Amino acid sequence: LIEATGLRKSFGDNHVLQGVDFTADRGTVTVVVGPSGSGKTTLLRGLNALDPVDSGTVRIGDVSADFGALASAPRGRVRSATAALRAQSGMVFQSHNLFPHKTVLQNVVEGPVIVQKHPRAEAEAAGRELLAQVGLTGKEDQYPFQLSGGQQQRVGIARALALAPELMLFDEPTSALDPELVGEVLAVMKNLASEGWTMVVVTHEIRFAQQVADQVLFVDGGVVVERGTPTDVLTHPAQERTQQFLKRIL
Ligand code: ATP
Repeated sequence: LIEATGLRKSFGDNHVLQGVDFTADRGTVTVVVGPSGSGKTTLLRGLNALDPVDSGTVRIGDVSADFGALASAPRGRVRSATAALRAQSGMVFQSHNLFPHKTVLQNVVEGPVIVQKHPRAEAEAAGRELLAQVGLTGKEDQYPFQLSGGQQQRVGIARALALAPELMLFDEPTSALDPELVGEVLAVMKNLASEGWTMVVVTHEIRFAQQVADQVLFVDGGVVVERGTPTDVLTHPAQERTQQFLKRIL
């Protein structure tokens, strides 16, 4: 489902992605781990073209973009290629970015109604189901400030799911939460994995990776240093850099 080849991205002299390759099958969970500043967020933002890479190709389902070739393409073509790729994935951020003056349900149906032009009644029915799926039945008419951080983050997940993407991207979805709220968000993500969603998750939650991931990528210095099953990468890492990283965080 996902094929990323030769992804490169620099911010000035800072060469953040230096040729990242990976693939992921439909219905699998890929967990990306790595030190702070290693390019994990940049990789996710590149995959959904929120912040396009400088060169390399990304294919998600039947949509692909060659960013090297797009660099010299007319602006209109760049815009339509990035928009097509962006529509393939839903993204959940470290902090939820909900609209504060809209209710929970309004937050969830905003995308389907405004972007995808679905009839509001239909979008609301689907939105209520998604909110039930993330354990928020009864909260539909509340405002974000009335919810806990974990509940807000689950609204963020429902909002991303509402666009029915091919792929769900999670960028450290629990790292801004109080420790006692982390579990409820991870439980929702585990549930999505068991329902067959294709997911790429940047997280420091090693236990989640061990339990849920089909593959783990260890990223450092802008490259994939090691890739394999959670047992390969997290329990028996082959590379010195992976061993050092795990020693620091475990
Ligand atoms: P963390 O775990 O701390 O979130 P990360 O692995 O996700 O780190 P990135 O956020 O991808 O790392 O950042 C990688 C590098 O790129 C960092 O050195 C960062 O300062 C730099 N960087 C990221 N975004 C920008 C930007 N918009 N402009 C300039 N530099 C940036």
